[in-house]
Amino acid sequence: KCYVLVEVKETGGEEWVLDANDSPVHRVLLWPRRAQDEHPQEDGYYFLLQERNADGTIKYVHMQLVAQATATRRLVERGLLPRQQADFDDLCNLPELTEENLLKNLRHRFLQQKIYTYAGSILVAVNPFKFLPIYNPKYVKMYENQQLGKLEPHVFALADVAYYAMLRKRVNQCIVISGESGSGKTQSTNFLIHCLTALSQKGYASGVERTILGAGPVLEAFGNAKTAHNNNSSRFGKFIQVNYLESGIVRGAVVEKYLLEKSRLVSQEKDERNYHVFYYLLLGVSEEERQEFQLKQPEDYFYLNQHNLKIEDGEDLKHDFERLKQAMEMVGFLPATKKQIFSVLSAILYLGNVTYKKRATGRDEGLEVGPPEVLDTLSQLLKVKREILVEVLTKRKTVTANDKLILPYSLSEAITARDSMAKSLYSALFDWIVLRINHALLNKKDMEESVSCLSIGVLDIFGFEDFERNSFEQFCINYANEQLQYYFNQHIFKLEQEEYQSEGISWHNIDYTDNVGCIHLISKKPTGLFYLLDEESNFPHATSQTLLAKFKQQHEDNRYFLGTPVMEPAFIIQHFAGKVKYQIKDFREKNMDYMRPDIVALLRGSDSSYVRELIGMDPVAVFRWAVLRAAIRAMAVLREAGRLRAERAEKAAAGMGSPGTRGPLGELQRGTSTPSEKLYRCSMLDFSFDGSEEFDINAFEDIIAFYESKKKSKGIKQKQLIPKNLLDSKSLKLIISMTLHDRTTKSLLHLHKKKKPPSISAQFQTSLNKLLEALGKAEPFFIRCIRSNAEKKELCFDDELVLQQLRYTGMLETVRIRRSGYSAKYTFQDFTEQFQVLLPKNAPPCREVISALLEKMDVDKRNYQIGKTKVFLKETERQALQETLHRE
Ligand code: ATP
Ligand code: MG
Repeated sequence: KCYVLVEVKETGGEEWVLDANDSPVHRVLLWPRRAQDEHPQEDGYYFLLQERNADGTIKYVHMQLVAQATATRRLVERGLLPRQQADFDDLCNLPELTEENLLKNLRHRFLQQKIYTYAGSILVAVNPFKFLPIYNPKYVKMYENQQLGKLEPHVFALADVAYYAMLRKRVNQCIVISGESGSGKTQSTNFLIHCLTALSQKGYASGVERTILGAGPVLEAFGNAKTAHNNNSSRFGKFIQVNYLESGIVRGAVVEKYLLEKSRLVSQEKDERNYHVFYYLLLGVSEEERQEFQLKQPEDYFYLNQHNLKIEDGEDLKHDFERLKQAMEMVGFLPATKKQIFSVLSAILYLGNVTYKKRATGRDEGLEVGPPEVLDTLSQLLKVKREILVEVLTKRKTVTANDKLILPYSLSEAITARDSMAKSLYSALFDWIVLRINHALLNKKDMEESVSCLSIGVLDIFGFEDFERNSFEQFCINYANEQLQYYFNQHIFKLEQEEYQSEGISWHNIDYTDNVGCIHLISKKPTGLFYLLDEESNFPHATSQTLLAKFKQQHEDNRYFLGTPVMEPAFIIQHFAGKVKYQIKDFREKNMDYMRPDIVALLRGSDSSYVRELIGMDPVAVFRWAVLRAAIRAMAVLREAGRLRAERAEKAAAGMGSPGTRGPLGELQRGTSTPSEKLYRCSMLDFSFDGSEEFDINAFEDIIAFYESKKKSKGIKQKQLIPKNLLDSKSLKLIISMTLHDRTTKSLLHLHKKKKPPSISAQFQTSLNKLLEALGKAEPFFIRCIRSNAEKKELCFDDELVLQQLRYTGMLETVRIRRSGYSAKYTFQDFTEQFQVLLPKNAPPCREVISALLEKMDVDKRNYQIGKTKVFLKETERQALQETLHRE
């Protein structure tokens, strides 16, 4: 006699197999309904337990309505399902928590194509390298407004929970995705964005959702490339913030990008490629377009052919190119714009084909640059004067206080100048694309209507990397990953345990590996590696050797810093995810990689307004853009203030006193303000909380003076900038103060002062800090992506590789704390509000009332604790309460 568990899914019809021993024991029958459809009170699925006859025919013996995880667990407990065949969709439910069991459970699920597993509210996603049919709109619907854990774990479930949490609590949410290169972060991001926009489409789909969906593919074409680890590796980081109206409808989005890897443009390691867009373009264009943009074949370009160029069998670059063009249309690029972009791409490729020869004759030590037809094409594509182009490619111009010095480049200097021009052009193009996408994502209608400021941010950065040769880029990428790991630890371990302590509940601390030491090694003032690097980058006689010597001298005793044996010009860092050896060569140059002034001058003189726009973003345009953004934020602030006032008045009328400072403004108040944001915050807080709504006019005088001068000198018309209904003096002042604290505007002002721009590493640190600050203001959800195998093979689970990732991400400890900790917490006030129905009428929000309720309901004492100001519950208990509430 053999019992078989049969799961009945809404989407049934697929027959799937439990293959711990490769034997088919587990089947799905068609039962196209969820239990809820027939019994609205119930949730979960029908599970049928089959009994088989000796001849293999099936007879049903049991039918049950339960949530999936519960079903599996119960069957195991009753001995109906062999223990080793059980799997747990929440790692916190594992009967015995060991590394081995974690791994086994993940493997077991993975082989049944269940790639998602929870660890409490954290989603673990194991990359299957195979597209599973679980992402269609039906699935979005299925997960809509469901409690986490009710259904099979899914990335949509997380998006959904974040969305409803945002709407319910009116607090911004963020989803932080981490994992090493090739683990599936970008793919998860795309699924999330897809779901987050779909959730908002109630009835009609507005254009802005299309724009958001188009942004991903465009950014990926220009910012992703094939690497040794991943065929679609992100070479930049991005934070996409989807903004919603109070009603839950998408109103716009903002994309922030971090550090594009520029070196890839001019050289790639073996088996790696340049950015996707070049291949799409070269193999996807029509004959006509090929002529128009003067394109050749990939193997004709030095920037693409340095290694054996491999186009994989399954690749359809023509199709990819079509998709790119479509996506570009979705984000609002007109045909003319697309042409301009393609021309610039073509020019960048031609730059790589510029060659130099030492002049053979005479005393002239200069270089001969060629070939002539390449220079001709370049000057046509960029619409620049050929003579000036040749000058820039061969001679250095140095301008001192009272002299102009022109010196010919040496051969290697000339090549660097050429490559620098290509890199500058491409990164300017990328920045321009991000800016334009942001323009398109900005919902202009917001200017006329009032808006709220709810959002869900999704963070997808470049994953941890360890190549054969690692350079400055990997150093920055891995530093960003350290910071994210730190952020994760803070949330999961530190803050959580500190809260338990301060609330005075009984608790044994759980140890975790703190990586703050490594972060300090890299970025702590004044001896962090980034600072030493800046010092040595500015010092005229410094070299790679002096830099390395400095590193070693300062950090000899640091346990995160390891020298290399013998004389190798490299150093090793002990990262949380493993040791990485970095080659010191080019660190200084890459850190100081600015656009050269003579290149800027050349391109600014172009006859193409597009090229000019790429290079020197018109200051007036930037200022206007910043004002527009600030205006929108100002509207949100004004509205929020109004709402709070109304709420306060309402509560006061009801005799309930002040509601305190919750929501975005409260958050603002709690946040630590940097000097640069002080004024911004002050103005907002004064405005919202002192009740008088008056500004200190003096504080704004300077700003207004500046604004007026801009208006005069650059001819900005007030009318152009701000919609009429915002033009009362109060909001105008608010807008101006916000504008001046906007980063784009600040960098613009920086530009005007002709100060040396900060180094690449300093810029990177600033943008990371800003990101962490934004994350700090939102409630986080985490997705931990795991790479199943190194070979990118379909559904292949490499125990060693997965275990290694589980270890360095601290998964065991994470599950432990989720399991013994309390994932649901409420302040007394929130608790009484939420469960009002279960409480006596007008019960005050206090310990006694809550304690009485929990006792009355017979909640297991081991599963909750009441602290000084908060109630802590385990997830199961919270669900039970919620269900009781539902029934009442
Ligand atoms: P990097 O840090 O290099 O950018 P990543 O973590 O963003 O890496 P992805 O590009 O998202 O990794 O994933 C790598 C590849 O794995 C994808 O191109 C896709 O083929 C596959 N993949 C990832 N997630 C899934 C999934 N959920 N289903 C099917 N295939 C997936
Ligand atoms: Mg990626």
